[in-house]
Amino acid sequence: MAVLDKLTSQEAIELENKHGAHNYHPLPVVLSRGEGVYVWDVEGKKYYDFLSAYSAVNQGHCHPKIVDAMTNQAKTLSLTSRAFYNDMLGRYEKFATEYFGFDKLLPMNTGAEAVETALKIARKWAYEVKGIDENKAEIIVCENNFHGRTTTIISFSNDPVARKNFGPYTKGFHKIEYDNLQQLQETLESSNNIAAFLVEPIQGEAGVYVPSDGYLAAAKKMCADHNVLFIADEVQTGIARTGRLLATCGNCSCPEKNCSGTPEVKPDVLILGKALSGGAYPVSAVLANDSVMSVIRPGNHGSTFGGNPIAAAVAMAALEVVTDEKLAINADKLGKIFRAELTEFCKNNHLVESVRGKGLLNAILINDSEDSSTAWDICIKLRDNGLLAKPTHGNIIRFAPPLVMTEEELMDCISIIKKTISEF
Ligand SMILES: *Cc1c(COP(=O)(O)O)cnc(C)c1O
Repeated sequence: MAVLDKLTSQEAIELENKHGAHNYHPLPVVLSRGEGVYVWDVEGKKYYDFLSAYSAVNQGHCHPKIVDAMTNQAKTLSLTSRAFYNDMLGRYEKFATEYFGFDKLLPMNTGAEAVETALKIARKWAYEVKGIDENKAEIIVCENNFHGRTTTIISFSNDPVARKNFGPYTKGFHKIEYDNLQQLQETLESSNNIAAFLVEPIQGEAGVYVPSDGYLAAAKKMCADHNVLFIADEVQTGIARTGRLLATCGNCSCPEKNCSGTPEVKPDVLILGKALSGGAYPVSAVLANDSVMSVIRPGNHGSTFGGNPIAAAVAMAALEVVTDEKLAINADKLGKIFRAELTEFCKNNHLVESVRGKGLLNAILINDSEDSSTAWDICIKLRDNGLLAKPTHGNIIRFAPPLVMTEEELMDCISIIKKTISEF
């Protein structure tokens, strides 16, 4: 078989099963093309994408402006390493720091790398600025967090599947309940060695848990009172997904202004990934002000691909699309319609217990046990009816379409979802 012969879905699945490590359990659908809110399988069937590669494809599949930026840069200069300067990185750093309102940006590739980077920055800041004794720094994290898959990150996960038999684990983390300010207060008071609090503004992988109103602002204030860094992991919630440029923006008027400089809760350290490239390329970043970022000096940290010219060109184009196409406003508007329609539907349907979320990061809770296959079976039927979504944690289905969706397309999707669930 030639490498580029056309494959059937069955053949493609068999190849992965036979030759690939089994570290995922994909929905059985084999995609070969994407455009905007749509993807097509190898047999030519068209689907609405309701996962958006875990919110990496907020700008829609193969956005022409992002693809142009990427291909033009790929033909010009792809990689220099940071051993030399390139003429794209500084441009991108100026653009992105002004866009998000921070002094400095540290470029990486994947979300997990950016989280690792933020943890390293926080520890170094703790020793060199806060004055914690060497090797004593502690970082507060939340139960049911998801921050990626590295050895350190899974050390403070409480998902047994992600953790078991990957020890010994990295020390120095305190786990508290999400959305629990009292535990945060107690933990901050329990030790003088706390460097940082790492939190997702909405817990995406855990099942789209939205914290109480005011939680993030109050948590940030508690951290500030204890001279502890507030680190927001906005890898999934950031870049317009929740109807704001960042989920930490609260209810400020940032959809219009894209909130540069005026977020309701300004993190000390902001972690971005996924949609920072619109899904075209792995691009992640850590942003912080000089008082924090200046602890990083030559040789302390790095990445061969981090900040490469293609990544810089792609990220600038991807962020411009978010502003030009007012994606935060659209996500806010469509999200309200989606939740209103499905909340109404829940009232007369015994299978859907509730719907929750913000902007276009939403989930429905299926009225069945966590180890039942109902949510998976519904996703298979949704696939048959032309819409792709995936269960997270057994009985929860996340719905996160690209933010370039129109209201008409959303209404079509809502009717597919209602029809499919009604058939159960
Ligand atoms: C996806 C995700 C990550 C990890 O990103 P990768 O690019 O998969 O390493 C980290 N944090 C959050 C909140 C995420 O959703």
